[in-house]
Amino acid sequence: MSATISPSSLAAEPRLRNGTARNFIGGAWADGDGTLIDVHAPATGEVIARTPLSTPVAVDAAVSAAKRALPAWSAMPIKERVQVLFRYRTLLEEHVDELTALIVEEHGKVDGEARAEILKAIELTEFACALPQLATGEILEVSRGVECRTERHPVGVVASIVPFNFPSMVPHWTIPNAIALGNCMVLKPSELVPLSAGRIAGLLKEAGLPDGVFNIVHGAREVVEALCDHPDIAAITFVGSTRVAREVYRRGTANLKRVLALGGAKNHLIVMPDAEPEMTASNVAASMSGCSGQRCMAASVMVAVGGTDDIVQRVVKHARTLVPGETVGPVISRQARERIERYITEAEQAGARVLLDGRGVTVPGRENGFYVGATVIDGVTPGMRIAQEEVFGPVLAIVRAKSLDDALAVEAASPYGNAAAVFTERGATARYVAERATAGMIGVNVGVPVPREPFGFGGWGESAFGVGDITGKGSLEFWTRTKKTTTKWNREAGTNWMS
Ligand code: NAD
Repeated sequence: MSATISPSSLAAEPRLRNGTARNFIGGAWADGDGTLIDVHAPATGEVIARTPLSTPVAVDAAVSAAKRALPAWSAMPIKERVQVLFRYRTLLEEHVDELTALIVEEHGKVDGEARAEILKAIELTEFACALPQLATGEILEVSRGVECRTERHPVGVVASIVPFNFPSMVPHWTIPNAIALGNCMVLKPSELVPLSAGRIAGLLKEAGLPDGVFNIVHGAREVVEALCDHPDIAAITFVGSTRVAREVYRRGTANLKRVLALGGAKNHLIVMPDAEPEMTASNVAASMSGCSGQRCMAASVMVAVGGTDDIVQRVVKHARTLVPGETVGPVISRQARERIERYITEAEQAGARVLLDGRGVTVPGRENGFYVGATVIDGVTPGMRIAQEEVFGPVLAIVRAKSLDDALAVEAASPYGNAAAVFTERGATARYVAERATAGMIGVNVGVPVPREPFGFGGWGESAFGVGDITGKGSLEFWTRTKKTTTKWNREAGTNWMS
């Protein structure tokens, strides 16, 4: 079912005042205290809302609300805390159409992609509901009559700073786990897509989340810097570009906070001559074009090893069937479209061959939308900018390699390390690549190798700064600290150096 939402229906929502997104502080909607910027629907270019660029005053109010809520929330047994998330999960399911429509509106994703994002948000919430089974402590008699037990405690007030490209899924990477484990959170949504976050807050409240456990402050750089500097924030997660991830990691850790900052990506798909042609081609085309290439797991470079012309032709055939406005959504902004088209033009001028050209497309009836068609460029060399930098659009650069080791060298030269994949029918080749590729998430005949729960999501190199993964089991370490208690009650037990 196709979901649509109109700007006029949004205007009636309490999370908006006259079309302006509002902060959510201590369980109540609050007007932002800064200047306003327009939010454009990427599909039409139309202004659909405004985001307040809040100031450190709003950050302080949100952190104070979280701090007030922390003692009661963190003292509640985890089995009770997750009851809220069980109810929230049901609400997400009941509101799939509405939440899908919000993403379609503010981000421009096609309906199926937006819906998949909500289904993933549900899966992430389900994992958090299961945390009582995983967040258990340990106990051992460490000396005669002396036992040591460990238990997990929340870190405290935490902040989550998120990008534009998944307005609902990426917030759900952090919200359910962080609050299930007893933390109170301030979320800073992307100023480009402020609407989904407000609905998340409303549904959490409806599910019974106590006021102050979850707060939203809209804004941009000033809010992020205030979060990094705030003395009452103990931990920060960031997801976004590498440039900002680096700044947030440096600033947060300089203020002695725990920080996990995920950055950009440049994912390489190595295609071997023995790969199954049709499956490989459809996977590569889907990986590079899904969500208009605005995924940190998107295929960006296909490294074609040896005689793979047939597969290249099939990739082009698949990509050609994609229709902007129907099966490929717009990119986020006019500037993003210009940047992506510039990469294509520069590659062409540097001698690469554009096999399929998505520049200059328009969608009838949506002439002001920010569309780029699927683009395939062959003959790209590793020195070209398009082979090195994150393009973040539906563009596939094909680099030709003579051998598998040459292909791995191309992959290893990238400072990013989110994902890498190999397409082959030989298990030994797959294993060879999985052992050597310099990325945190590896695909074997899988073009978008996102590890699903309970596995953790996280890259290597300049795709992630800090320790551990942001989701799954690995996130327990980030959102908790352990307390170790050593006890002796039975005085009659013998003594040794410890007792
Ligand atoms: P971005 O870095 O521009 O913005 C991310 C967040 O940082 C936003 O909330 C934004 O308001 C804030 N911000 C922007 N500039 C800032 C500055 N100078 N100082 C402080 N804060 C600032 O990223 P984006 O364009 O929203 O998202 C796309 C990027 O996110 C891509 O690079 C993509 O690869 C990356 N991403 C990575 C992952 C991952 O798991 N590694 C997942 C999703 C997106």
